[in-house]
Amino acid sequence: MYKLYRAKRNARLHHQINIGGVIHNHCIALHRRYYSMYKKHLSPLHLKAHIAKRKKIPTYAWWSALGSQAIQDLIERVDKGYQRFFQSLKDRKANKTARKMGPPTFRKVRKAKSFTLKQAGWTLLDGHRLRIGSTIYKFAKSREIAGTIKTVTIKRDPLGDLYVYFSCRMVPQPAPRAMTGKSAGFDFGLTTYLTGSDGTERHAPQPFKQDLRRIAKANRDLSRTRAGSHNRQRAQAHLDRLHKRVAHVRQAFHWDLAQALCQHYDGIVLETLHLQGMKALWGRKVSDLGFGTFVQTLHYVATKTGTRVHHIDRWFPSTRLCSVCGHLNDAITLRDRVWTCAACGTTHKRDHNASTNIYREGASSLGGSHVRLSPG
Ligand SMILES: [Zn+2]
Repeated sequence: MYKLYRAKRNARLHHQINIGGVIHNHCIALHRRYYSMYKKHLSPLHLKAHIAKRKKIPTYAWWSALGSQAIQDLIERVDKGYQRFFQSLKDRKANKTARKMGPPTFRKVRKAKSFTLKQAGWTLLDGHRLRIGSTIYKFAKSREIAGTIKTVTIKRDPLGDLYVYFSCRMVPQPAPRAMTGKSAGFDFGLTTYLTGSDGTERHAPQPFKQDLRRIAKANRDLSRTRAGSHNRQRAQAHLDRLHKRVAHVRQAFHWDLAQALCQHYDGIVLETLHLQGMKALWGRKVSDLGFGTFVQTLHYVATKTGTRVHHIDRWFPSTRLCSVCGHLNDAITLRDRVWTCAACGTTHKRDHNASTNIYREGASSLGGSHVRLSPG
């Protein structure tokens, strides 16, 4: 992801994103009309032909400013949205607890977010310049683009900043680090982000909490403004900016932590996160800390460094199990940071005991020679 430099010519990209939004709504309208007339799903091929025809009508000629590949991509995305909706209907017929999903809906054009080009319609010029159509846009090349570019996506965030995403086919690379022979299990927590079975602790950055308080205040300020007012717009932009900063801080933290762990360990054992359950138990804070995104980042970095990541079974009682004698302590509550095993009398630090259990449970699945338990 690279940020585009602000420039007057970016107006064209905004215009193209808006066209995408208009066509999206047009597609939804056609899908609905087609269904009400024929009780059948409108195929993307039909839809593509229809839009192509429509672009030839003078009143719709302005749609052509958005590349035809981007329009095809958009039609396919709407179709995927419907396919997911149909699938969820089927799933729910078979199983009442399956997730409920709505069909794609109309969206405000102002809130349209992106368009995607495949092989055609763009050229990457030297270094940090990208040509789309006949216009050349500059972006901040914060790092090298690795692999062969498959698609180019222009995205707009709520603040109106534009970004270019290159999705690339990666060339597999050998592990750029020496194996350390170390491995550990980790327990996720609210006070300590990660507690390792080898006694290490990793904390989420401090500014984070401060920003969350600011966000709460910005939210209150926003709710006090009148709908449609200039103040509402300003308060909204302020809130969006705060969210963006928190997201950046969190992202940087996730990358640094994933890098540090993958450089240090050959094998990592984690719990299988059950985010819905964690949210119910711990509240909103879980999503603020982004455990799920961190795990994704870790997996991504691990493939590059040759680190193995193993998840233990979701129902494994890592917290309640005594890591010394194996006794199950059912009385343990969320507030117990320290507890003493009734069977063997060992006093445990909750998180460290859990990470030891996690490691022990998963170590054999890591394979290789490091099945040996870490001390402690
Ligand atoms: Zn015990």
